[in-house]
Amino acid sequence: MGLLRWQVAAAAAVGLVLALEALPWVLRWLRSRRRRPRLEVLFFPSQVTCTEALLRAPGAALTGLPEGCPCGLPHGESALSRLLRALLAARASLELCLFAFSSPQLGRAVQLLHQRGVRVRVVTDCDYMALNGSQIGLLRKAGIQVRHDQDLGYMHHKFAIVDKRVLITGSLNWTTQAIQNNRENVLITEDDEYVRLFLEEFEHLWEEFNPTKYIFFPQKRKSH
Ligand code: ZN
Repeated sequence: MGLLRWQVAAAAAVGLVLALEALPWVLRWLRSRRRRPRLEVLFFPSQVTCTEALLRAPGAALTGLPEGCPCGLPHGESALSRLLRALLAARASLELCLFAFSSPQLGRAVQLLHQRGVRVRVVTDCDYMALNGSQIGLLRKAGIQVRHDQDLGYMHHKFAIVDKRVLITGSLNWTTQAIQNNRENVLITEDDEYVRLFLEEFEHLWEEFNPTKYIFFPQKRKSH
């Protein structure tokens, strides 16, 4: 009787030790079973599709017609609609680091996010933002924070970070010309490491382009 109890106790102790021993392995196994981070690649040029349904302000009826949008464009998915969807998923923050930004649809998407209370910050290029058709002036008028370089070299990045969780990056300038005509690629990834590295670069540029650091009357460099 007493011996049996000891045997049970010993077996339980051994079981416990083995369980603790196996714990790190079990945790590793569970981690490896987590779903792979999202990875999506969009290729442009994009088919021209109607993006009204994606871009309408919440509460605004698309049309009075029961069948929806009466415009003549196709209403399926396209590279642009998928890009818009990835951006419009933002709930807390959106960082944009863009050389050229003149696409009206992408401009509306960014303004929509700002209206929803998403914290939007834009870093852009001082030369391109001054061109006709740039969305930057409209974004600023809407109250969105924009900072730009002061260099001769271009601020040539084209990336966005959604909710500090999703990185959107590639060759695409945010212009209708590029979206509809150019061969371009855009990678959308939830890989933590890449998101962190691009966010660090964004914060670095955001500080570097802080308006308090602008030099309005550059002094001539001394020549030696
Ligand atoms: Zn339509």
